Amino acid sequence: MGAAADFDTDVDAVVVGSGPNGLAAAVTLARAGLSVRVLERNATIGGGARTAESTLPGFLHDVCSAVHPMALASGFFRRFRLQERIELRLPEVSYGHPLDGGRAGIAYRDIDRTADALGRDGAAWKQLMGPLSAHADEVAQFAGSPILQIPRHPVTVARFGLRALEQGLPMWNARFREDVAPAMFTGVAAHSIRPMPSLATAGAALSLGAYAHGRGWPVPVGGSQAIIDALADDLLAHGGEIVTDAEVTDIAALGDVRAVLFDTSPRALLRIAGDRLPSGYARRLARFRYGNAVAKVDFALSGPVPWTNEELRRAGTLHVGGTRAEIASAEADVAAGRHSSAPYVLAAQPSILDAGRAPAGGHVLWAYTHVPRDSSIDQTETITRQIERFAPGFRDLVLATSSKTAQDMENDNPNYILGDIAAGEASMSQLIARPVLSTDPWRTPAKGVYLASSSTPPGPGVHGLAGWYAARSALRHEFGITAMPSLAP
Ligand SMILES: Cc1cc2nc3c(=O)[nH]c(=O)nc-3n(C[C@H](O)[C@H](O)[C@H](O)COP(=O)(O)OP(=O)(O)OC[C@H]3O[C@@H](n4cnc5c(N)ncnc54)[C@H](O)[C@@H]3O)c2cc1C
Repeated sequence: MGAAADFDTDVDAVVVGSGPNGLAAAVTLARAGLSVRVLERNATIGGGARTAESTLPGFLHDVCSAVHPMALASGFFRRFRLQERIELRLPEVSYGHPLDGGRAGIAYRDIDRTADALGRDGAAWKQLMGPLSAHADEVAQFAGSPILQIPRHPVTVARFGLRALEQGLPMWNARFREDVAPAMFTGVAAHSIRPMPSLATAGAALSLGAYAHGRGWPVPVGGSQAIIDALADDLLAHGGEIVTDAEVTDIAALGDVRAVLFDTSPRALLRIAGDRLPSGYARRLARFRYGNAVAKVDFALSGPVPWTNEELRRAGTLHVGGTRAEIASAEADVAAGRHSSAPYVLAAQPSILDAGRAPAGGHVLWAYTHVPRDSSIDQTETITRQIERFAPGFRDLVLATSSKTAQDMENDNPNYILGDIAAGEASMSQLIARPVLSTDPWRTPAKGVYLASSSTPPGPGVHGLAGWYAARSALRHEFGITAMPSLAP
């Protein structure tokens, strides 16, 4: 790695951006025997999967992603054998959902135990999630595949579809009798940062929920950066290069390299390579919509979060915001351009599993909340208040905080337009046409130009799949390589 002097491109392929998808693309190309150079605008590699001491020395905070349901489920990471390269720790409680009065929904990896704790709604939960979590790999295969492919596991896809219809439409309360189970489902659905109920939010909840019981939601020892370092190490070992502080603003600066894969938003692709794109395609990219935003706060703590419900102290991830109705109302506020006074907060407590994230006795808490696009409002107090609601005394443990508004998100990474960390609204239509409807949406009509980011299928998350699919298409169409390389260590 080094600083960019220029963009000498005496290589077969250039990847613009070093996020998980960019590096997955670069690894795949290098493993096929090509010479590859990755150009990254920031001083550090990793995009949405970096780890930094952003509060106090010795406190390791995940800058963006923290928890990795797809690290075990992604077809790319399984081929790359990520689990053999880094240590992934699995909490017994995949996620927890605090409610007032010390009550909570607890999603154990064990679905029977989860159902037992849900009382009168236990059977309904098991009927909803059980058939999918028992086939979590089939769900991952379907959720991680291009939408226009014939499904390999039609029974699982049909079960998924029926459940998405039920939980994605206004009748979504029909199966439940109490408030804990529906709140749990809603807490997972809210990862989509969209108004609810909807088919897209229900689909996200069903796939993430299936992994929660079927495989678990792991955190990497050392932080998300460990995933990036494993990818970068493999790339360098196979002759690839990474150049930091190297923002690409014009494709012409890359010379006549045979393949350029963009780990960027469609908007950046238009800016950088627009003159090579046919006008119809360019218009479709320009119409691609960006979604609601996120504001993030990292906390350095003098002890673990004192959740009133003690089972929550064992959860890797927490969905904070109260009942189904409260969370749906908060998401509706955000979609309408308002800051909710009691917003949904997604939190992770990786140091309960990985003590090395903080000096002895200390802990880190990772949290973000949903805000209107382009918000410049610091959410430290709002997030603190929501956590304090279910963990009185939390405020007294805070040693230091580091906060990013939605605007800061985009400044840090231009893929997150106006603070949209999904790099494109995750609505149903944009999950199908991402960014265009095609059997090969990674390949643009311009010769040798590919889009490899989470603005392509299967969308947001650290899974490397978008980069892998883009690289496979480039290998086939630019280099005539149809046998896909082994990615194993
Ligand atoms: C706050 C936050 C929390 C998240 N939490 C989770 C989570 O817990 N689990 C999960 O699975 N996912 C999570 N995500 C989503 C996940 O991080 C992203 O979906 C994923 O990183 C997308 O990967 P990517 O490679 O497509 O793009 P990115 O990771 O965004 O990487 C793109 C890279 O390209 C670089 N770049 C952009 N333009 C240029 C240019 N012109 N020239 C050179 N370089 C350029 C950027 O600097 C960046 O390094 C989170 C994201 C955020 C922001």
